[in-house]
Formats: sequence, C-alpha cells, structure tokens
Amino acid sequence: MDTVISHAPLTIKIHDADNVAIVANDGGLPAGTVLPGGLVLKDKVPQGHKVALVDLPAGAPVLRYNVPIGYALEAIEAGRWVHERLLQMPQARELEGLPKATVTAPALPPLEGYTFEGYRNADGSVGTRNILAITTTVQCVAGVVEFAVKRIKSELLPLYPHVDDVVGLEHTYGCGVAIDAPDAVIPIRTLRHISMNPNFGGEVMVVSLGCEKLQPERLLPPDVIPISDQRDPHAGLDVVCLQDNEHVGFMSMVEAIMKTARRHLERLNARRRETVPASELVVGVQCGGSDAFSGVTANPAVGFCADLLVRAGATVMFSENTEVRDGIAQLTSRAQTPEVADAMIREMAWYDAYLKRGSVDRSANTTPGNKKGGLSNIVEKAMGSIVKSGSAPISGVLAPGERLNGQRGLIYAATPASDFICGTLQLAAGMNVHVFTTGRGTPYGLAECPVIKVATRSDLARRWHDLMDVNAGLIADGEKTIAEMGWEMFQLMLDVASGRRTWAERHQLHNALVLFNPAPIT
Ligand code: CA
Repeated sequence: MDTVISHAPLTIKIHDADNVAIVANDGGLPAGTVLPGGLVLKDKVPQGHKVALVDLPAGAPVLRYNVPIGYALEAIEAGRWVHERLLQMPQARELEGLPKATVTAPALPPLEGYTFEGYRNADGSVGTRNILAITTTVQCVAGVVEFAVKRIKSELLPLYPHVDDVVGLEHTYGCGVAIDAPDAVIPIRTLRHISMNPNFGGEVMVVSLGCEKLQPERLLPPDVIPISDQRDPHAGLDVVCLQDNEHVGFMSMVEAIMKTARRHLERLNARRRETVPASELVVGVQCGGSDAFSGVTANPAVGFCADLLVRAGATVMFSENTEVRDGIAQLTSRAQTPEVADAMIREMAWYDAYLKRGSVDRSANTTPGNKKGGLSNIVEKAMGSIVKSGSAPISGVLAPGERLNGQRGLIYAATPASDFICGTLQLAAGMNVHVFTTGRGTPYGLAECPVIKVATRSDLARRWHDLMDVNAGLIADGEKTIAEMGWEMFQLMLDVASGRRTWAERHQLHNALVLFNPAPIT
C-alpha cells in the first residue's frame, strides 16, 4: 500500500541549475503524485531521495548543489526516482593545480557582547565542564581504572559537589604496537592532547602498568605537562604505577588511585564558573548517520551558526577527510592564505595515500543507511557535509591529533570521518563543545565534552525526542529558516557551555575514545 500523504507534496532543490530535487515528505511520495510545478512522479520516491526534474539522456551529469554527483548510466525520464544504481560516480579531483586562497570571504562583522559561564584554566583555555580525567598509558590498566572510577564516583564525588564527573581515559593503545613507526606520533599525541583538554582543568594524573611501551614520560614529557598554578612545578608527573613493589594486592592499587584522585578533586572543587566571552568556545562539528536532509537542513544551519561563532571570535573545527575530499577545490579556494591551502592539500594527499595503502576504493564511505537516506555516493554526501563549515575563510589546518595553539576562527582539523575517531581527535585538538548532526539517528555521546545532537528531519526528532537536542527538520517543514535555526543553535551552545546538560549527558551516553592509529601493531 502506498503511504498516506498528510501534507502537500514537497520537494527541495538546492541550486537553480540542479536537475534533481529531493522529496521532503515523511514516508516519501507515491507514483502518480503531481508536484507543485506539474511534474508527475513515474516511480514511488522515498523520503530524501532524488527525482529527475528533466529528461536526462544517458551519460548526462546529475546536478545537485550545482555539482555533478554522478552521470546517468541510462536515459532517465523526468519524474523518475534517481537512485544510486542509475549513477556512475565521478572520480575524485586531482590534488594538483587547485585554486588557493582565491575567494574573498563575505563580510562577517564582529559579534560582540555574547558570553557564557565557563571554567578559566591556568593556560588561558576555558572549560565548559569541570571533570577529573584519569589518563592511562595502556589498555592493561583499564579494568583497574574502571573499578577505581566507580568507587571515586560513589565515595568521593559527593564530597566535591563542584566537580561534574570523573572519567577514565581508556583506550586500546600503549603496548603491542610499533611505537617508533613514523605514524605512531598520531595516537601518542592524541592521548597526550586529550589529557590536556580544557574540560579537565589542567589536573593531569596518570595510571600506568609499568612494563608498557608507552611509558608515562613518553606520553607526557615534562615540557608539555600542564601544571596548575597551585601545584609545585617540580612535582613532576602524577603517576600511579600498578607494578610498583609498594602494591600488595588489587585494593592497594585502587586505594593509590583514589588517594591521588582526591588531591586533584580538591583543586577542581575549588573552581567556579565565571563569565567569559563567547570567543572562548572551541566547537567541533561533525555528522554521522547522514541522509539527504543533512545537507539541506541541519548542516546549513550548523554552517550559519559556524559563521556566528567566527564572528564572535570563537574557534570552529570541521573535519572528516573523506567527506571533504570531493569538495577540496572549494576549500583550498576558501583558505585564508596559500599556506593554509597547501596544508589542506598535504592532509588530503596523506589520506589518499593511507587509503590507497589499504586498497580502499571510493565506495568505502557511504553506508547502507546513507544510501537508504537518499545519499547516492560520497560526492553527494561530501557536498552536504562541507556546508557545516559555513562561509568564513579557513584560517588554519591541524593534522590528526594536533592541538590548537592559539589559532582562532574556522579550522580544518584533519580526521577520518568515523564518528568516534573524529570526536576523539577533536577532543585532542581542544574542543569544549561538540555539535553532531544526524539524519538516520545515532545516540552518540562523549564523557569528556557535551555533545549537542541535531536531527535533520522532524520524523527523527519526534521519535528520538529524548535523544536529539535540536530539530533542524523544521527547516524542511517550512516552519523555521536556516538563519533562525542557526541563531537558536548559537544560543544553545552558550547555554550548554554554561552547564545546561544535553540529552546524552542526562542519560550518560558515552562512546569510547577510539584512537586513529595508522601505524603497525606488533
Ligand atoms: Ca562522522
């Protein structure tokens, strides 16, 4: 049976030159539907999927975002469903001869007077949460740390009401790895920089096994340990080593971790939120479980909000190499300087080589769910993903695991598109608020940083009413404009940064830290 249509047929065309539009109605539209312009659907077209607006001869480019997202494998009549099996995917653009810093950015007048309530750190950064993080050097200690964290939460945390949480920074790295391989710098600096995230207040404590390859001093050399101003600068790194002779039995290890934690909890508990300018926000944006609405509703609204953040002097990071690769010319054009464009190209070339080494083809990104949601291939997905970056010039590029070092504005933080790895690398870069858009739906969350989840469709926002923080589907429903939604997100970010809890925080939905380790395992 065909779906009953509750609303008038609604299609969304992004650019005047596009020869396809997507169907916006919940449940899609049945064959025979007459669209507002008079075009009659020849097939049933699911929600988010494309309909041909004109007759497309075989070989013709199929244009969405005024970009060829594919070429027709056969003649496609106007009114037909244009699904991925009818499209040949274009090749990725070569990285030679790209335009560099050629676009003059639109005027973005400064936004002044916006503030939030944050935790000012000794190094000048600002936390949005006050969390004790326990750094680990190796997976071997994870069980002990988990046990200790449970006890800290139940026995100590009630004594320190100004501390939000205690988090064990557990991971699968640290031993059994080729630690001197060139690419091992990526997982090592990622772990180092996560322990320095602004939400942890500069209070670094480490649990080590003792015999692992990643020794505490290698993870956190003396010149990078952030030492809070109250602490003795000669005290060195605060490490509990489980193999130390002093430990007799499991409980001795747990007690040592708890005793060390207490010292850090005392200092964290003495901190209070203070009013700071919106420029202290470091927002990481990414998407996951995308559909064809991602590039129409949620991502353009995030892009609008990204421009507001840049205007307020804040830092916005966008990421996901495989989802910007097909738009590389747009991005190198938007680079503030030729050097920034070169850094973008360097990251893309490195990633191309990494994928090639694994014999990965261009079908590797786009999941079955992406396709079900109307995204035919990575080109179409990329065009919808890039709009999260708004229109500001790109002022800097970070390699995977690198940390912001005074850069502001719009930053490209190079990461894989994998949700958990991207989030992990953005934490390392210094993110204090995370924005995550999704069309298919994911309950994603991080223990280290608040995650604001944005639904691309009202249907998802209704069903997942206690998981999605923002419904950008209202844009497709015609109830809100992209600008209104962007402003709403901007305000929500300031509220969340000031302590308002997101749905993921209320339910304590925490995904694992997942390191990007392109180096060999031994
Ligand atoms: Ca992602």
